[in-house]
Amino acid sequence: AQHFLARARDHQNLGAYVAIDEAATLAQARAQDEKIAAGSAAPLAGVPIAHKDIFVTRDFPTTAASRMLAGYRSPFDATVVSKLADAGCVTLGKLNCDEFAMGGTNENSAIPAVGCDSVQPVRNPWDTTRVPGGSSGGSAVAVAARLAPAVTGTDTGGSIRQPASFCGITGIKPTYGRASRYGMIAFASSLDQAGPMARSAEDCALLLSAMCGPDPDRDSTSLDRPAEDFSRNLTDSLDGLRIGVPAEFFGEGLADDVRAAVDAALKEYEKLGATLVPIALPRTELSVPVYYILAPAEASSNLSRFDGVRYGHRAQQYSDLLDMYKKTRAEGFGDEVKRRIMIGTYVLSEGYYDAYYLQAQKIRRMIADDFQAAFQQCDLIAGPVAPTTAWPLGSQTDPVSSYLADIYTLPASLAGLPGMSVPVGFGNGNLPVGLQLIGNYFSEARLLNAAHRLQ
Ligand code: GLN
Repeated sequence: AQHFLARARDHQNLGAYVAIDEAATLAQARAQDEKIAAGSAAPLAGVPIAHKDIFVTRDFPTTAASRMLAGYRSPFDATVVSKLADAGCVTLGKLNCDEFAMGGTNENSAIPAVGCDSVQPVRNPWDTTRVPGGSSGGSAVAVAARLAPAVTGTDTGGSIRQPASFCGITGIKPTYGRASRYGMIAFASSLDQAGPMARSAEDCALLLSAMCGPDPDRDSTSLDRPAEDFSRNLTDSLDGLRIGVPAEFFGEGLADDVRAAVDAALKEYEKLGATLVPIALPRTELSVPVYYILAPAEASSNLSRFDGVRYGHRAQQYSDLLDMYKKTRAEGFGDEVKRRIMIGTYVLSEGYYDAYYLQAQKIRRMIADDFQAAFQQCDLIAGPVAPTTAWPLGSQTDPVSSYLADIYTLPASLAGLPGMSVPVGFGNGNLPVGLQLIGNYFSEARLLNAAHRLQ
């Protein structure tokens, strides 16, 4: 823990951490030392990790990278946090992200990183003039720059996979419902999932095994599946594995350097005994409008709780209750969050609900059905995580073009399928490229096996 805290201090310019409390970390570490000495070491005893600042924690402040929650401290730990603590992990601190996990660059954080007086962008350690991806950007940077050996992230539409890809690390979003959402600050509840990000599939498997499991009293969407050892298949042979390659993931818009790295990885899989099967995911393009209707709709409802009354920021000056709400929310939320609340409120409003929200729900089901049709022909699906490598900070000024960059991660999110990002080389400018692997429901061990064999 001391080693990683020292590294975090030496690399504050990257902006990865938003909260560090050395005393709290060392107290947790000492408690683990005592358990080890007493002969009752948990499986991950003493492993230092850090959490995306979307998970509420008792020992550290929790902000969701929003001014709305600046200085907030939760009276309880998220289930994922307490499960990892029960497994023996020690918390190094909290990691930067896009505000309420909305974004794909980590440029939407409203909280100054540790060691910075003002809000700064999180920087990609491979090229500090570039974005780390998002929304779990601080998480990806912490692992890539070795400021933590492994971390948690959350993925609603790609927020684990895309920053993992941009920073050259491994990350997995499990099947929706595998990990409890209790204590994970909600963005879009039907899509939000927690998952680990680490250097290797093996490390991800260790963390994921500790994170998952039913939580029926606290998250009604957590699945009634017992905890699993996701490391169990890591070294299995890939002989005979059928890897589906969706044509729609390789169309125009995919950068040549990303295509080349992904193609090379697919060739590697053939050498490992797998067969490549051309498949179709015909509604891939629709996943962008569908997601950007459904996720804001759910967000507009989830974020109504930030009203200045129960917790978080409250405007200092106001004339009456309505004015207090208005000023509190105007001051507390950043631009992207406000944009999503407005879109979400619009698509849920009378007269538009049928035209937008209901249509999007129907297409969401069709996207899930397309995957089931594809899984008749293949065991796993492989393709790029993102159309390009990490782009320069400040270069995405148009929200729609940044939404379009989510095209390859959104389909699996909408279908609730597990997906992961595996580093498979470098594109132009020595920037990392990730391969996306998507599996059918509950196939995490298989995905991690395929990733491990490539590493
Ligand atoms: N980039 C997507 C968005 O902005 C995904 C974010 C996420 O997965 N949390 O909504």
